[in-house]
Amino acid sequence: MNLDTLIGKLVQYFNKEMLQFPERPSYTPLPDPDTSRPYLLYLHIPYCQVLCPFCSFHRVQFKESAATRYFRCLRSEIEQVSDRGYRFDEVYFGGGTPTVLPGELIETIELLKSRHGINTISVETNPDDLRNGDLRPLKEAGVSRLSVGVQSFDDTLLKEMDRYEKYGSGDQVREALERIAGCFDTLNVDMIFNFPHQTRESLERDLEILAREIVVDQVSFYPLMNVDGKDKSLERAMGKVGYSREREFYELIVERLLDAGYTRNSAWCFSRKPGMFDEYIVDREEYVGLGSGSFSYLRGSLYSSTFSIGEYRRYVESGKTGTVFRQDLNTRDQKRYYMMMELFGGTLDKRAAAKRFGGDLGLWREFTALQMIGAIRDRGDTLELTERGQYLWVVMMREFFAGVNRLREKMRHTLPDAARRAGDM
Ligand code: SF4
Repeated sequence: MNLDTLIGKLVQYFNKEMLQFPERPSYTPLPDPDTSRPYLLYLHIPYCQVLCPFCSFHRVQFKESAATRYFRCLRSEIEQVSDRGYRFDEVYFGGGTPTVLPGELIETIELLKSRHGINTISVETNPDDLRNGDLRPLKEAGVSRLSVGVQSFDDTLLKEMDRYEKYGSGDQVREALERIAGCFDTLNVDMIFNFPHQTRESLERDLEILAREIVVDQVSFYPLMNVDGKDKSLERAMGKVGYSREREFYELIVERLLDAGYTRNSAWCFSRKPGMFDEYIVDREEYVGLGSGSFSYLRGSLYSSTFSIGEYRRYVESGKTGTVFRQDLNTRDQKRYYMMMELFGGTLDKRAAAKRFGGDLGLWREFTALQMIGAIRDRGDTLELTERGQYLWVVMMREFFAGVNRLREKMRHTLPDAARRAGDM
């Protein structure tokens, strides 16, 4: 077993300890807020026009009436946590596709602005909303960062992903991106590498487009993640996932994007200028997630909302939040989680860590091992990922998020069969 595989296995082991929610969901309120400071808010919109085979996010087929009702519930949930004293300054709308109903999205943004001092708003979208929709109202409503799920510009891969028909060819997506360049403070594109049938030439072409042919501010280049339970459908559509070329592809991405003037914000996010990035878990240790299938991390505990949209509606319409799971992390796991997220952003500030945990961060065995394998270097006040460490962190975070995706799959299986069949998830 090589070192990369070993690191992946260690994270899988760590996940098993950390990401274990109870088998039977039941209503679990969020803790009282610390009213002295604002929080980051994540809002999940689970509706999509097309359900892509590689995707493990919580998403269901778009139906206008169901999505309209869902947005109403979400606003009611926002009101509830606001009434409890939670304050928010930064908002991420993720999905699914938050722009499936732009009017409802804007009404939700207006509610947030009326109750909170919101500085930054990030919204995920898909290429068809760029091509066919008018995004100016989003900009006028205060959206500062637009994140577009592109995945690849290669038509063969887009067809395998079942995205070509609905979201357009690589050329059409590229033209749509060119049209909105400069409209938002930050325009991010989400890409994926290491598809089973992706060639080095195909990845080089994607990088050439991002480096020289279009103007985007940020690129988040995720490694393809496999998840138990999804692997068969993914394999049927796209081929068998393997990791033998992952490092080579990652090194190519880093080389081409850094050459083109991007800087690295996290192991897999690259920006041309400062701004928000998807890995808000690096910048903000605690966050509140609302909406069906969202996660929160507060006071050392992970919370999850129900993955049943029907159940979510029932909870919210009866005056509760949708939270049904809670996992308390022991101090050691909280420190490991902190270390993993900080180093994902490239550096760990030792003094900030000591302040956060009321003394020494500890974890000397972990740090010694990471130094011995050449993954981190000690810069006195900070620990820093080496180039070798950057790829190892890609492996770690790929396995960490695969663990979160496994948890999502598990939660979906706690739903009654009827709800799963009806897509009422
Ligand atoms: S990749 Fe995006 S559009 Fe496709 S199913 Fe997942 S969330 Fe929806």
